[in-house]
Amino acid sequence: MSAIDLIKNAISITDVLDRYAGANFTGARTSRERFNIRCPYHDDRSPSFTVYTDTNTFRCWSGCNDGRPGDVIDIVKLSRGVGTKEAIKILIADYGLESPDSDQAKEWQKKRASREQSAALKKELSRKVMEAIDTLKQVEQMAKETLATIKTVEDLERVGSLYHVTSQIDYWLDCLIENDPLIQVQTLQEVDRFLEKTNMKAG
Ligand SMILES: [Zn+2]
Repeated sequence: MSAIDLIKNAISITDVLDRYAGANFTGARTSRERFNIRCPYHDDRSPSFTVYTDTNTFRCWSGCNDGRPGDVIDIVKLSRGVGTKEAIKILIADYGLESPDSDQAKEWQKKRASREQSAALKKELSRKVMEAIDTLKQVEQMAKETLATIKTVEDLERVGSLYHVTSQIDYWLDCLIENDPLIQVQTLQEVDRFLEKTNMKAG
């Protein structure tokens, strides 16, 4: 990894915004891959500055940084009023990145790797959630079709328990749509057990 790559990728954009721009993260959804804050470079009444933690870049939608997306080097340029070379020098000095093999540099690379890992985990979770929602909707549809065929008391005794299943599925769907990873993981486990029990687990 070259020094520039290291600077652009290893140092977190959030950290640099905090350190050089005094950016205000109050109320921002910083746990997300992308979130908005008030732009530190213009009088911003509504948060119009998007931080992309996945690509380690930003964009001010009111035209700061000449309306272009920027990286950590641009933040130092804008905050300190310096050119690219000087901004790189500042970052190298402040973050101890003189050599990609320095302890500091390794530390930042490690942090970057763990950020990437948690982003990958989030992606995997949302894939599983989408899959479970699909399956549950299919099961619910099947249950509703069966319930619609009920004509006699005997039918009701035979398949009446499906009423309980459909309301349980509605509850799970609500939980999965909720954007809380803890609830989603818990719900996925319950759904898995349910599908196993009813032999409806795909694959
Ligand atoms: Zn701006």
